[in-house]
Amino acid sequence: MEAPAGKRSREELRAAFERHVAEHYAPKGSGFVCKKDGAEIRQTTLYVSVHAKAFGDMCAGSGEVERLPLPYCPTCEGVPSNTSTCVHV
Ligand SMILES: [Zn+2]
Ligand SMILES: [Zn+2]
Repeated sequence: MEAPAGKRSREELRAAFERHVAEHYAPKGSGFVCKKDGAEIRQTTLYVSVHAKAFGDMCAGSGEVERLPLPYCPTCEGVPSNTSTCVHV
């Protein structure tokens, strides 16, 4: 999956992940496989900049960046081209 849209809360970011995983991947063993083609889901790193909600839509904050696993299907999705987003907290 591509990086979810930014400027949202942590809960919304988590929900975007859960929605994509539930729709497109199926649990198998310790990981996931693609529902469409059965390929083993891989993951890369998503960089999440932490911005302050106090600044509204402006992306400003502490400069803190968190890393999260970003899953993708190597055959039908390919390596994500967008691996960074932000949360407003
Ligand atoms: Zn932001
Ligand atoms: Zn696939």
